[in-house]
Amino acid sequence: MNIVTLKPSKEKSLLRRHPWVYANAIDRVEGKPTPGATVIVRSADGRFLGRAAYSPHSQIRARVWSFDENEPIDHAFFKRRVQRAVADRRAMVSGTGAVRLIFGEADGLPGLIVDHYIEDGGDGRGQLVCQFMAAGVEAWKEAIVAALTSATGCPNVYERSDVSIREKEGLEQITGLLAGDEPPATIITSENGVRYHVDVRNGHKTGFYVDQRDNRALVQTYAREREVLNCFCYTGGFSLAAMKGGAKRVVSIDSSGEALATAQKNVEANGFDSALATWLDADAFKTLRRLYDDGERFDLVVLDPPKFAASREHVDRAARAYKDINLTGFKLLRPGGLLFTYSCSGAIDSALFQKIVAGAAADARVDARILKRLGAGVDHPLLTAFPEGEYLKGLLLQIA
Ligand code: SAH
Repeated sequence: MNIVTLKPSKEKSLLRRHPWVYANAIDRVEGKPTPGATVIVRSADGRFLGRAAYSPHSQIRARVWSFDENEPIDHAFFKRRVQRAVADRRAMVSGTGAVRLIFGEADGLPGLIVDHYIEDGGDGRGQLVCQFMAAGVEAWKEAIVAALTSATGCPNVYERSDVSIREKEGLEQITGLLAGDEPPATIITSENGVRYHVDVRNGHKTGFYVDQRDNRALVQTYAREREVLNCFCYTGGFSLAAMKGGAKRVVSIDSSGEALATAQKNVEANGFDSALATWLDADAFKTLRRLYDDGERFDLVVLDPPKFAASREHVDRAARAYKDINLTGFKLLRPGGLLFTYSCSGAIDSALFQKIVAGAAADARVDARILKRLGAGVDHPLLTAFPEGEYLKGLLLQIA
């Protein structure tokens, strides 16, 4: 039997059901657990704390599967966890063909992400796309894939574990087919009445930013008759939503030509007037300033940049980058204009983000009011015991 015994008083976070065991909390390891093997975690005085997946190369040395002493970790365990997550999502999410079915720790499956894309006019079974980001889920991959196909009725499972975080777990980056058929070049799915091409093989993450669904819907609501700027547009998520909502004109910026090509295909797929959309293949920082200098002004600006702070050491530099784009974003707005601004850096919490945005408003000399605090959709739940799970935060602001 593999047993991990903690140092005295290091059991507190586990007793609060936080699922991570850091290497420096461990006193000793009995047995010879291989990567991903199940270990029993005990307190210094020998009390059972949980069953966890061992990860010998990571500072997060073990991730708890279950705090229940009577729950073995076997195929049936994964079947139960996956079925529960799928049933929860089906009950909570509608109006979209792109859903996050499994969101790691929040679904009791640390390190696992699964998105489901259902094609418009297809047979409804769709395509599952997974990311395995920890040794535990990697070791149980086969059981997880079997549980996923059985819980969803979708036979097609593709892996997009090309994420650098795997290196911390001693795992190589990997992509490829796990079950069923090879995915098509693109899947056309629809969200809130807008059609999007999703390339699960080459797109970012699993192909689409599923987490921004509600925020795209909000932009759709407020876009009518407005001139819109969508900065960091990827395949045009917010741009298409704005067009659907009746925007007068949409200017979009991204530095990925491939993403922009897909965005233009998305305009066609929806039958929108392509003359209303301008796509700028360029660096956002420079282009925002150039637009300002050229005297361009907008009624609604979206700023949805990539993760500027990969970890705590990068917070200061990231804060300057967020301030820079938000400052120019405010200056590009007409009086009464709306700013939708986001950060997906886990290392920057919502209080700090608000402070950065406030600093940007002050420097832009505008009176900005927060109308709404924004986050990811209900298919990205946040475990109360695991605040680290929060990454996407946003603000909807209006200037005077
Ligand atoms: N809002 C999008 C997702 C944005 S992801 C949606 O709803 O789908 C962030 C995007 O920023 C990526 O497409 C990436 O190509 C782009 N990007 C990263 N750095 C950039 C830069 N310096 N200038 C312009 N775009 C950049």
